[in-house]
Formats: sequence, structure tokens, C-alpha cells
Amino acid sequence: MGLSNNRVVVIGAGIGGLTAASLLLKAGLDVTVLEAHVYPGGSAGTFYHKGYRFDAGATLAGGFAPGGPHFRLAEMLDLDWPIQPVDPAWVVHLPDKSITQWANWEQWRAERQAKLPGTERFWQLQERLAAAAWDVSSRPFPWPPQSFNDWVTLVKAIRPSTLPAIPYLTRTIAGLARTASPELRAFLDAQLLISAQTTADKANALYGSAALDLPRRGVNHVRGGIGSLAKMLADWIAANGGQVLYRQEVVEIVVRNGHAAAVRTNKGLTAEADWLLANLTPWGLVGLLDGDAANGWRQKIETTPATWGAFTLYLGLDAAHLPKNLPDHHQVVVDPSRPLGETNSVFISLSDPNDGQRAPKGMRAATLSTHTAVAPWWELQNRDRAAYEVRRQQYAERMVAAAERAIPGIGQSIRLCLPGTPVTFQRFTRRPQGMVGGFPQESLFRAHGPATGIPNLWLVGDSIFPGQSTAGVTVGGMRVATAVLHQTGH
Ligand SMILES: Cc1cc2nc3c(=O)[nH]c(=O)nc-3n(C[C@H](O)[C@H](O)[C@H](O)COP(=O)(O)OP(=O)(O)OC[C@H]3O[C@@H](n4cnc5c(N)ncnc54)[C@H](O)[C@@H]3O)c2cc1C
Repeated sequence: MGLSNNRVVVIGAGIGGLTAASLLLKAGLDVTVLEAHVYPGGSAGTFYHKGYRFDAGATLAGGFAPGGPHFRLAEMLDLDWPIQPVDPAWVVHLPDKSITQWANWEQWRAERQAKLPGTERFWQLQERLAAAAWDVSSRPFPWPPQSFNDWVTLVKAIRPSTLPAIPYLTRTIAGLARTASPELRAFLDAQLLISAQTTADKANALYGSAALDLPRRGVNHVRGGIGSLAKMLADWIAANGGQVLYRQEVVEIVVRNGHAAAVRTNKGLTAEADWLLANLTPWGLVGLLDGDAANGWRQKIETTPATWGAFTLYLGLDAAHLPKNLPDHHQVVVDPSRPLGETNSVFISLSDPNDGQRAPKGMRAATLSTHTAVAPWWELQNRDRAAYEVRRQQYAERMVAAAERAIPGIGQSIRLCLPGTPVTFQRFTRRPQGMVGGFPQESLFRAHGPATGIPNLWLVGDSIFPGQSTAGVTVGGMRVATAVLHQTGH
């Protein structure tokens, strides 16, 4: 460690890395963020193309309501997020009915009673468990505990109101809804896949209950696209004496005497660090480590199944061809009897029609996404480029066909179409194999924490609990900043 004990280097300007960086800067540490790409945000970035600003991955911005992680961060940094609430949050299109995810509680209760009759007991239990889970997570909640200090903090986070949730620690959502009709099951699976990266049979009951509440916790449009969140944090860091350096891909972490001492970038920059935060997946981290430091991690990732990738379509749409009074976000389940993902479930987000930055006049920017296994894309990319192109085209066509169910006429309105596969995601977010969204939230007792085994090197981002979403990685970023400050004695 250097004499100063003050130098923090953050690899990656995703929301998790930027959140931790800004809190450490605010606490008086010397902070440098090294970002490989030319703008910040990673999976929650927005890219410019031919007059459109397309959200690359994340489109739904949650966690801004009082007590939510983005709200709390804004209070700490004195930020004014450029957000606009969206209600309904989204509409779920099953083959023979559409269910609206109203943000308003009363409207949602009326909707579920009308569209999913006989399911009230499940929803009432879900609401109780979600309330306990949200309450605990509104306080510092270092899960999984990885130090004595974490245990002390966790114990302090427990209240009498938390105790009824304890019997559900090892249950799944499917376990709460044993007699669920195929329709309720399809609805739950589709909600959980996008929020917990897994379906009801595996999603933890407490995590899943909290995730099922997301529409009621507030969903927003971000002016200029979701990438404005990362841009705002990066600007805050620069304006407050930190550095965010772009086009600096870290290619090596130098470990000396068991400590992360420095990083080297592809541009020949060496940055010495007393504290190193890696806004990376474990696969990304292991690629930067050498020798003994890498061995433990290499074993870990060799035994860890690949996580999901995403297939995306970025569409420029002529608004004149779209239905009037159309909600902005939709989720389509094509055939509930088949596994979700791989174009059988598609999420569709349209840009705010009142946001002139997002698209040329009279047009709208849309991001469509579906979960996809990463391996087949890489296999074709490496072995048979023509077959890769064919598959990409097939996926694009199936995505548009699915979107037609939610938005009749969308096919006619397309003026621009850009597909993205896991190969594209690896290229632009540097996430190995294009694995996005972090680990499935199954057992709470197998959740991944930020400690890496190297005492001054921490993981941050959606690979650590509570996992994916801009709100989730903000919680993780806050936890890591607190842990570093505890170690530095700040
Ligand atoms: C298709 C899709 C849809 C999604 N929808 C939503 C949604 O609607 N709402 C929501 O909240 N979340 C959503 N998510 C999830 C959300 O986007 C992510 O969980 C979150 O943005 C991840 O943040 P992160 O901190 O892990 O960083 P990342 O987004 O992974 O960013 C990491 C950054 O580090 C940089 N980097 C990587 N390696 C290096 C290196 N070696 N050197 C320097 N820089 C490096 C990358 O360029 C990148 O900028 C979605 C994700 C996807 C893919």
C-alpha cells in the first residue's frame, strides 16, 4: 500500500463503479475511474446513432422513490436526477390476456383481482414478504456477510417486523404459489426472469417477492436515455476533484505481496492504487489477474454455469404508425408452455414521446430484448459466420413478430433496425461472452459478496448481491464504499 492510503482506482464506469467512486470521493479519497469505452454506463448506457439515443440494455429506471437507492445517493451527493415517472410501469401480454402492471397500488389490486382471479392469498403473502424485504434493504444490509463488521451491521438492520420473514429465507416463489394456475405461473415467471434472472421454481421467496413489487416502487423515464444517470455521476466525480478517464481498458491488475498495487491499461497508463474496485463480472476479473491471485477465481468460474446473455433490437419507429395512447413498456410471452427467453419472452421499451433528445421529430427509439444463452452465439461466431448472421436475422424477425402482439403495426413503423447479440455486448460493455444481468437470485445463502480474497480489491456491480438493475448495483456500490471506508478508518 502507498504512503497515502488514499488512492482509489475503479475499473469500469458502470453504475455500480460510479456509485462507489462518488461516495469514496465525497469521503475525501483520491479517486480515478478507468473506463474502456468512450462514454459511461455499460449495460445501463445510451448510445447515439443517426439521430436516435438508444438505451443499450436497461430501460426501466427504478429506485428513485423516497428511501430507494438512487434517491438516497442523490441526497448524499446533492443530485437532481432527470427522471419522469411512468404509469403504467409496463403491460404483460399473455396469449389470451394483457395484465397491466400499474404503479398505483389500488389500480394494481383491482387489475390482479380482475385478470388473475383466485390468486389473492398469494399476492397478500407476497406483499407482506416484500414489505419486510424492502424494509431491511432500506438500511445498510451487507449480504452475504463477509466480515465481523458485516455481521454487526446486519444484526442492527433486523427489526421485529423482519422476523415473520425468517421462515421464508429458504423458500421459492413457486413454493408460495403451489396451486398456481398455468396463467399465474406464466405471469410470475415472466416477471421474475427480468428482475431476478430466474423463474418461480428457483427464485428465492423474499428476493422474488420484493422483485414482484418493482412496478409499485416506481418506474421512470430518464431524460436523454438511461445513460444520463451514469453521465451525471461521471460529471459529478469530475466536478468534485476525481477523474474519469475514457478509452482506458485495464488489461492487468498488478498484485504485490498479496495486495492489488496497480493497474495497467491498453494505452500504457499505470495507475497505482491503495484500493481497487473492479466493476466487473468474476470472468472479467480473472482475465486481469495472474498467477496465484487468479487461481482461486479461475476454479470458481470454471465451476460456475454461464449466466444469461441478451439479444437486443434497437428500432427507430415512425410514431405515426403506432397506436394512440400506447403504454411505453411491454412484455410479451409468446407461448407459456415453452421455456421463456430466446424470443419466447420479449421486453419492449419505447422512448418518452416528450423527450426530444431520444429520436428525430415524429419518431421514437425502441429497445427490445430477450434472454438468450451465450454459448450458441459464440460457437457460430467462431465457426460459421454465415450461420451466425442467419440466426441473428431469425431472432430479429421473431422479436418483431412478438412485439406485434403488444403493438399492432410496429413492423410497418420500423425505419431503422440494429440487432445486438452477446458478441455485441462483449464488444461494447467488455463483459466476457456478453454475459449480462448478474447471477440468478436463487439461494440467499449462495449469494455472491464483494470480497475477492485480496484484501484491498473489491468487486462491484451486478455480480454481487443484490445483483442486477441500476438500483441493485447502487446498493452494492454503497456497501463496497462503506467497507473501504471502514478499512481506511475514514
Ligand atoms: C438487455 C438488458 C436489459 C436490462 N434492463 C434493465 C432495466 O430495465 N432496468 C434496470 O435497472 N436494469 C436493467 N438491466 C440491468 C442493468 O443494466 C445492469 O444490472 C447494470 O447496469 C450493471 O451495472 P454494473 O455496475 O454491473 O456495470 P456494467 O454495466 O457492467 O458496466 C461496467 C463498465 O465497466 C467497463 N469495463 C469493463 N471491463 C473493463 C476494463 N477491463 N477496463 C476498463 N473498463 C472496463 C465497461 O465498459 C462498462 O462501462 C438490463 C440489462 C440488460 C443487458
